Amino acid sequence: MKIDVLTLFPEMFKGFKEESIIKRAIKEKKVDINTINFRDFAKNKHKKVDDTPYGGGSGMVLLCQPIFDAVESIKKKDSKVILLSPQGKPFTQEKAYELSKEKHLIFICGHYEGFDERITTICDEEISIGDYVLTGGELPAMILCDAITRLIPGVIDEQSHKNDSFNDDLLDYPTYTKPRNYKGLKVPEILLSGDHKKIEKWRKDERLKVTKEKRPDLLSKNITLEKDGIKNKKNKVYMDDIKNIKVTEVKTVTKNGRYILDKNNLTWAVTVFNPNKIIGYKLKSKSKDASNKIIITKKDLSIKVIMKNIRKKIDILTYHFNLSLSEDDNEDGVSNVLGEAEMLKSFIIAAYLKYLGDEKIDKIIKDINMIVNEFMKAKTIKSTFLQQKQVSNRRR
Ligand code: SAM
Repeated sequence: MKIDVLTLFPEMFKGFKEESIIKRAIKEKKVDINTINFRDFAKNKHKKVDDTPYGGGSGMVLLCQPIFDAVESIKKKDSKVILLSPQGKPFTQEKAYELSKEKHLIFICGHYEGFDERITTICDEEISIGDYVLTGGELPAMILCDAITRLIPGVIDEQSHKNDSFNDDLLDYPTYTKPRNYKGLKVPEILLSGDHKKIEKWRKDERLKVTKEKRPDLLSKNITLEKDGIKNKKNKVYMDDIKNIKVTEVKTVTKNGRYILDKNNLTWAVTVFNPNKIIGYKLKSKSKDASNKIIITKKDLSIKVIMKNIRKKIDILTYHFNLSLSEDDNEDGVSNVLGEAEMLKSFIIAAYLKYLGDEKIDKIIKDINMIVNEFMKAKTIKSTFLQQKQVSNRRR
């Protein structure tokens, strides 16, 4: 395989190419990692590769011309051009496997504020290495080179990456080495038993256990179960395993679109899912049958439920205001109820802004402020009235 990396900083790849497994893979000609400085392709007088953005704004933007020309000079029929970008699809082990089968990869490393959007038209894919922004595409390109190279046949022992994390959507099993007992921390007995069948079963179970604990989202990936059986054949092998491990949340969808979570019951589950990834409003259920983590994934329904909750909270607040009004003048009572209003506003913003959006939240806050103002007015009127009453009583 050949990987051409288009970069403004080829020197960054020196150390990377000269160490460990990558160095050996290059030496054994399993991979050729070649850097190309696309500044060399700039046609302007000062070899400029970037310019200011149209429409204004900060930072410099990489020009089309040097990158277009650099790609054109090396691209062949079976080349795959990949743009490293935080806006790309997240890089995964599956993608690494897929790319390890390619003959020629061209990586484009952006820098500065980014690149002219038209550069995407000469790329087959945009790949991101995670939801954060780096100064340039060089480290992401090295990460891809590394993950891909180790999967090229003959670079490392195939057995050693067969059980690696993310294969079959599972994490790796725990490993131990000498000594058997380190400061009281013992190696699991089964690994010392010499019974390879049992060890294999233990490792398989551990992969499921560890995945469930650390990355439950991987287990739920692509798994779609139906009442009548399994829909997704790819994951068929996991059916029994999943039954045995405790899946804490199972989303079931009833016909009328209401969502009920049935804990640890896969017999009538529709979907096994990762609760952290489900986008929706989580609420506590009073129903005994449902888990206390119902997630409403329908936006309209979420908004209705949230608005109902907020109305209830505002009703309670109004009740407390009225209670405070009916009491004789009591400064603590007033500040308590005003504090309650402030807390309610903060809570509503923190808990519901993401579901309701600015406009709805602003309206709710205005409503609460109006109630507070009305209360303060009523309180002032009442105390003025009481003071006047006291004065006239004293006069009499
Ligand atoms: N303004 C761009 C944005 O917000 O999408 C970020 C530009 S970044 C400072 C400069 C370059 O670094 C990008 O063009 C890209 O090539 C590379 N880069 C930064 N973060 C990355 C990531 N998470 N994955 C892949 N490439 C990344």
